[in-house]
Amino acid sequence: MKKTVLITGAAKGIGRAIAYEFAKQEYQICIHYHTSFDLAKKLQEELQEQGVSCMIYGADISSRKEVDNMIDSVLSTFGSLDVVVNNAGICEYKLFTDITEQDLNEMLDVTVAGTFHVTQSALKKYMLHQKSGSIINISSIWGMVGASCEVNYSTSKAAIIGMTKALAKELGLSNIRVNAVTPGVIQTDMNQKLTEEECEALKEEIPLSRFGSPEEVATVVRFLASDEASYITGQVISPNGGMVI
Ligand code: NAD
Repeated sequence: MKKTVLITGAAKGIGRAIAYEFAKQEYQICIHYHTSFDLAKKLQEELQEQGVSCMIYGADISSRKEVDNMIDSVLSTFGSLDVVVNNAGICEYKLFTDITEQDLNEMLDVTVAGTFHVTQSALKKYMLHQKSGSIINISSIWGMVGASCEVNYSTSKAAIIGMTKALAKELGLSNIRVNAVTPGVIQTDMNQKLTEEECEALKEEIPLSRFGSPEEVATVVRFLASDEASYITGQVISPNGGMVI
C-alpha cells in the first residue's frame, strides 16, 4: 500500500522541493498551503501529470480547527497518514527592542502552535492508533546558534528543536520517530530581502561558499522519513554547507 505524506507550506520553496522528493518515492501527497492557492494548484497538476496521487488543502495552521479539518480531509482522501513534515513558517528581521507583542504572538502561533496543532492532530487521529509514523520538523540553524535581529525567529525555531527531542522520547514506545532538520541559508523567497552585500557576507561564513538549494534540504527530509532511518529519532540534522559545525 502506498504511504501518505502531509507537507505544510508546500506551495513553494523548501516545501515544494520536499513534495517533489516524496513524489519520486511514490507517496500519496497532501500539499498544504496558506495563501498561495495558485502555486499549490500548479504543483498539484505537475505531480498528477507524473501519476502521483496528490491533494491540496488550504489552512492557517495557527488555527486548531482548520488543522483538524485538514487531517480529517487527508484521512478521508487517502485513508492513511504516515509522514508529517512541519515545514510552514514565517521569518522577521527586527531589532529586539522593536518586536511588538503582536509580532511575538504571530511568530509563536505559526511556528510553535502550528507545529503543535498539526503534529497532535495527526497523532490523535491516526498515528498513535497505527503505532507507526515519522514526524519531521523544519527548524533552522538560527534555532541552534541564534541570529542577531532575528530573536523572534530564533526563539521559535529553538522551541521546535525542544519539541522534537521531548516528543521523540515520549513517542518511542509507539514506534513513531520525530526528527528536526535545521537548514542553513537556502535560496528561497524567505531570503529575498537580503541585499547583495549581505548575501556575500553570509557566503564568506559558509565553508562550501554558497547558499543551499531547497532540493538539498528535501533529500535529508526524504531520508529521515525512510526505513533507512529506522533507528534515527530525536535528532537534529543540519544541511548548512558547514556554516554551523
Ligand atoms: P517560504 O516563505 O517559501 O515558505 C514558508 C511557507 O510557510 C509558505 O508556503 C507559507 O505559505 C507558509 N506559511 C506561513 N504562514 C503560514 C500559516 N499561518 N499557516 C500555514 N502556512 C503558513 O520559505 P522557505 O524558505 O521555503 O521556508 C520553509 C521552512 O524552512 C520554514 O519553516 C523556514 O523557517 C525554514 N528555513 C528556511 C531557511 C531558508 O534559508 N530559506 C533556512 C532555515 C529554515
